[in-house]
Amino acid sequence: MHLRRRVISSGLPGKVFGSWEIGIVGEDDGGKLFTPEEYEEYKKKVLPMRLQNRLFVSWRSPAGMDCKLVGPETLCFCTHRYKQHKTDFETIPQQRPISLPCQVSGCRCRAYLYVPLSGARPVRCRCKHFADQHSTAPGFLCNACSKCSGFHSCFTCACGQPAYAHDTVVETKQERLAQGKPVGQDVPCAAMGGLTGFSSLAEGYMRLDDSGIGAPSIEFLDSPVTAMDHPFLKAFQASSSSSPETLTDDKNGKGC
Ligand SMILES: [Zn+2]
Ligand SMILES: [Zn+2]
Ligand SMILES: [Zn+2]
Ligand SMILES: [Zn+2]
Ligand SMILES: [Zn+2]
Repeated sequence: MHLRRRVISSGLPGKVFGSWEIGIVGEDDGGKLFTPEEYEEYKKKVLPMRLQNRLFVSWRSPAGMDCKLVGPETLCFCTHRYKQHKTDFETIPQQRPISLPCQVSGCRCRAYLYVPLSGARPVRCRCKHFADQHSTAPGFLCNACSKCSGFHSCFTCACGQPAYAHDTVVETKQERLAQGKPVGQDVPCAAMGGLTGFSSLAEGYMRLDDSGIGAPSIEFLDSPVTAMDHPFLKAFQASSSSSPETLTDDKNGKGC
């Protein structure tokens, strides 16, 4: 599990933001670094919106089980990661399903689509070619043969059902709650997908997790319930009044 380390300069010598804040920014800075002013502005505008309009993405079996919770690093059929897709909405679209198009320039993917892995590569289609050999344009035709009528995988999931019988589901917090599905803590990280926060994930599960979210810190898990209310926002409040050194400590894996 690798935490992406990109240091945002605070403009003041020796002071940098912690890497967990970079997880919050995600791809939103377009690869350029925010200035401290831009970052403050961003926190005020984007974070409250994200807490409100958080979308959950999962790969669901015909029995209604979430066989995979999509995280920031989870690959799409288009070979790009979840965090490279549109995941922030000022208002949540009314129509269902909600499509999360890829934002990588030139990519034709119109909606995030999870494809299970078989070993290190996405599963094969019934045409025998791998998922990533297919077009990302609607129809998902194979680029390597002419007999394929569109990507269709008979790979059997751990739940016993074939991959093609599963759906990539995008839903709101309210929609998940209505079905009794976990939603976890509110966290303003970019492109959290289906991950239900830090405290809800046990350590054994985290080791198997390929989503790149990183393990929660002991301090985070041990903090009293009253302090769990929007912990990141509390941290922001704390950061404006206390020394920035407290933000540079990322060895506990607080990264989003
Ligand atoms: Zn893409
Ligand atoms: Zn995609
Ligand atoms: Zn095919
Ligand atoms: Zn093919
Ligand atoms: Zn399954």
